[in-house]
Amino acid sequence: MFKALVLEQQDAKTHASIRQLTVADLPAGDVLVDVAYSSLNYKDGLAVTGKGKIVRQFPMVPGIDFAGTVAESASERFRPGDAVILTGWGVGENHWGGFAQKARVNSEWLVPMPAGLNAQKAMIIGTAGLTAMLCVMALEEAGVTPDAGKVLVTGAAGGVGSVAVLLLARLGYHVVAVTGRPETHAFLSALGAKEFISRETMNQPCRPLEAQRWAGAVDVVGGEMLARVLAEMAYGGAVAACGLAGSFKLDTTVMPFILRNVSLRGVDSVSCPLARRVRAWERLAAELPEAAYADLVQSIALEAVPQAAQDIINGRVRGRVLIDLAQG
Ligand code: NDP
Repeated sequence: MFKALVLEQQDAKTHASIRQLTVADLPAGDVLVDVAYSSLNYKDGLAVTGKGKIVRQFPMVPGIDFAGTVAESASERFRPGDAVILTGWGVGENHWGGFAQKARVNSEWLVPMPAGLNAQKAMIIGTAGLTAMLCVMALEEAGVTPDAGKVLVTGAAGGVGSVAVLLLARLGYHVVAVTGRPETHAFLSALGAKEFISRETMNQPCRPLEAQRWAGAVDVVGGEMLARVLAEMAYGGAVAACGLAGSFKLDTTVMPFILRNVSLRGVDSVSCPLARRVRAWERLAAELPEAAYADLVQSIALEAVPQAAQDIINGRVRGRVLIDLAQG
């Protein structure tokens, strides 16, 4: 028997409860993993609270990422004892996920643990951190170098934002953080942010073009904020857009693109090809300093996930939330 958080739906409402399951309850897959850690991402918040249509079949074990050790494998790529990471591929959405002490998945979804990481560190990074790295890579590929000018990170105190601040600062960029929570300034300064702008300021309606301020930007918010970020981009700048914490809508004009050569790069972590994921994980292992992990994280037990899910949807989570499957 092992412990899992199970979502069910009654009267169009999602209910979460801790259950004891057996391996026979798990969905099909060629690798069985003993899950050591999972993490809480915005999408998990939507799934567990039922505030977003993330889960389509019930019962569902949510959890879009996990790290652990292979217990059984019918795949040639993995053997029992191998340390692995899983993020994305619809796990925790349409295939049972990481909020459980065991998971059975398709081996093609697993990434071998890179040198320098372990299950705990990998899930402090988690999907949010992987996405932050993919955003940084998108900016680099668009030619945004540290000497090009200031880079902006929106939703900076959240999971993706905080890891993006840390990575960009480590790589030598001058990072300006947008946050709606002034009480997180010390946290963000410790991660490397040099300046702050309030969420309120960045959410003001804007003209098609504003004064040129940013060489690059990582946006997790969307909506009016992304419209303003685009209008404020410097000539030749690039925005990596990965989120919708404010809104999925984008009401903008073509002006930044056709008059300032600005590019808008979409970033997806769910179906990101394996080779790019492996490269992103290796870079995360190399770039993140040992001391940063403790600064980024709060650790909770599976039992605390329903409350934490409410908190992340309400924008009250700072940095990353690690779920320790051995706790509780
Ligand atoms: P978090 O909740 O940890 O962070 C989001 C942050 O956005 C908050 O902490 C807050 O930052 C800010 N924010 C929240 N609500 C609003 C609002 N109404 N207006 C402006 N800012 C707001 O979530 P994650 O970091 O895990 O995810 C961020 C976004 O990225 C989500 O939309 C998520 O779905 C998306 N995402 C996309 C992925 C992909 O593959 N494309 C993968 C992972 C995440 P502050 O308090 O500093 O203002």
